[in-house]
Amino acid sequence: MEFLKRFLMLIYPNRCSYCGELLAIDEKICNDCFESLPRIVEPFCDSCGVSKDNCCCKGKKKAYTKVISPFYYEGNARDAIKRMKFSDKPYISKALSEEMSKSVNQRCDDILFDIITCVPMSKKEFKARGFNQSELLAKGLKINSSPIIDVDLLVKLYDIAPQHSLSSNQRQGNVFGVFDIAKNKDIKGKTILLCDDVKTTGSTANECANVLLLAGAREVHLVCAAVVKSKKTKH
Ligand SMILES: [Zn+2]
Ligand SMILES: [Zn+2]
Repeated sequence: MEFLKRFLMLIYPNRCSYCGELLAIDEKICNDCFESLPRIVEPFCDSCGVSKDNCCCKGKKKAYTKVISPFYYEGNARDAIKRMKFSDKPYISKALSEEMSKSVNQRCDDILFDIITCVPMSKKEFKARGFNQSELLAKGLKINSSPIIDVDLLVKLYDIAPQHSLSSNQRQGNVFGVFDIAKNKDIKGKTILLCDDVKTTGSTANECANVLLLAGAREVHLVCAAVVKSKKTKH
């Protein structure tokens, strides 16, 4: 058995999902990363997903009810997400899904989710990357209420300018009307957990949540791997 383990390690080196360091075969994360992950800690602002100390949203409501995320989009959490998306390492989604699941199960133990879905990509975007990171994250979630996973609930109708290239004011208009519910989906009265990789202003997730609510969903909650900490404005 020990021999087999060593042999497998030579062919498939086991690496820390957050920094890429080599690990023993039964480890998932290196000690340094475990200690330094930019965790979002209690008390939380449910409206924007960050700790109340870092909240700038003043409880402003969006179409989704609650934002749940384990990490700020910085340090080794940001590195992991970037490596997953831009260095063709889709397997990193597993480590992130695990942390996202823990956050949802801890913070939403009173919510019975019926369906998990994700922010869709356009066909062109999917072809360019070869995978939709939000779909992989959604598929890796293990939520206590055992919701069904339907990653084809939403469709992205056309390509738009990348959200990161726009100001926060432009982002909302940019995504307006871009998403639709797929044909023959009945989500009336369902409580939905929408999955995305990173939340910045929340415009994309807000638009997806609007579409789901218009199609009859009861409530939409958002889970993402990381949330961008918005800069506090001084008064
Ligand atoms: Zn590490
Ligand atoms: Zn907030």
